[in-house]
Amino acid sequence: KQPIHVVGGGLAGSEAAWQIAEKGLKVVLHEMRPTRETDAHKTDGLAELVCSNSFRSDDAENNAVGLLHAELRAAGSLIMKSADANKVPAGGALAVDRDGFSEAVQAALEGHENVEIIREEVTEIPSADIGQVILATGPLTSPALSEQILKATGEDSLAFFDAIAPIIHTESINMDKAWYQSRYDKVGPGGTGKDYINCPMDKEQYEAFIDALIGGEKTSFKEWEENTPYFDGCLPIEVMAERGRETLRHGPMKPMGLTNAHQPDIKAYAVVQLRQDNALGTLYNMVGFQTKLKYGAQSDIFRMIPGLEDAQFARLGGLHRNTFLNSPRLLDEQMRLKALPHVRFAGQITGCEGYVESTAVGCLTGLFAAHQALGTDIAPPPVTTACGAIINHITGGHIDREDGSGPRSFQPMNINFGLLPPLDEMPKHPEGKRLRGKEKTRLKKQVMAKRGLDDFKAWVATV
Ligand code: FAD
Repeated sequence: KQPIHVVGGGLAGSEAAWQIAEKGLKVVLHEMRPTRETDAHKTDGLAELVCSNSFRSDDAENNAVGLLHAELRAAGSLIMKSADANKVPAGGALAVDRDGFSEAVQAALEGHENVEIIREEVTEIPSADIGQVILATGPLTSPALSEQILKATGEDSLAFFDAIAPIIHTESINMDKAWYQSRYDKVGPGGTGKDYINCPMDKEQYEAFIDALIGGEKTSFKEWEENTPYFDGCLPIEVMAERGRETLRHGPMKPMGLTNAHQPDIKAYAVVQLRQDNALGTLYNMVGFQTKLKYGAQSDIFRMIPGLEDAQFARLGGLHRNTFLNSPRLLDEQMRLKALPHVRFAGQITGCEGYVESTAVGCLTGLFAAHQALGTDIAPPPVTTACGAIINHITGGHIDREDGSGPRSFQPMNINFGLLPPLDEMPKHPEGKRLRGKEKTRLKKQVMAKRGLDDFKAWVATV
């Protein structure tokens, strides 16, 4: 049998290579460091953590990333095994000694009889003669390979920056103040005329909001990120506010074509529109609110918006150097490039976000490739699992209507419970009392986490 080639020895590539090798198949892992560096990596170790040393919460009973940890452990993940073996104290989080962690991953792969590691930059997408290929070259994919991926996928299909608008859990929006309506009640393809949630502001609220945006604490670009994507029509919301106090009222916050369902006679001075973000309808996106505000400032300022006082954010906004595909258009549910099916993608380049998410996509992609080589194709895990929910976000679950969201509205995302389907039945209070607020949310998360892990264990037993 031909070996499977994995390009990129980061978190996703190392995990994919491990999963393939553990299935008894030969794998060649191509990593360009140290022959060629990236702007963020500092060593030549495999699975180098480029920034924080934290894998975030390790609480599998209450937290979506904790659930992802547990699922990866159930799948025999090398990244999780190496993280657990190099743990440092961090409260409820899983944080690691970064050098020990990277060394453990590298030693395991170097010592595996089925793994060959080649230190070279891959500058072209290998042809189908070579067999199956997984590209896991990350947010800092080398320019030569990026160019080839761009050629293979088309102009609009590879982004070099993300421009992330905050995403809110639908159930945390106060619909006594907000209302459903599309601008001018327009019914686009697949739409209903009520596709947006609208939050109204009067003049005083708008002025206070603009002051807060301008005064809010911002993060700065890293030196190598300074060539910002502002040209791309995705100005941060606070930069728009700085350009003129009325800019937002004539841009993303314009009130035209909208009637407040709760107070039809009062014309809003400005309106914040939220657009459905996933097919499940559990998440809404703050359209046009990409931002470089610090996370704490974002939560405070965006909760000033009427209807969002208690908003729970599934993702806060950002703007970073990143390389990622328009995966919902390009990849099938096995992470294969539809146009070149011998090529799969894994890791952050597919539009997941974060160390653990990149590892999860690497793990699944490795399993998909290995099973294809063995002639025992497998379906992705169910969407009730954290792993399945990420694959669904990347390849299918994203809403991309033609009414202004445009083809580029797919943006990277961390795992969160909003990506999982809601429960069929609400959990009951142990003493039969009515569940409310935080307690209700906590219990729901616990039931979803248990459902996810049970479903994942059942799935993994079949592979
Ligand atoms: P990587 O881990 O970057 O691995 C890709 C590998 O491919 C690299 O080793 C690279 O050298 C190699 N490569 C690239 N091009 C080629 C080529 N042509 N040929 C051969 N090899 C190639 N996530 C978090 O959870 N926490 C954080 O704190 C965090 N901080 C980040 C900071 C920065 C500056 C960036 C850019 C991202 C950060 N992320 C963070 C996001 C993301 O989770 C990580 O980038 C993660 O490492 C992605 O995993 P990956 O395997 O997809 O890519």
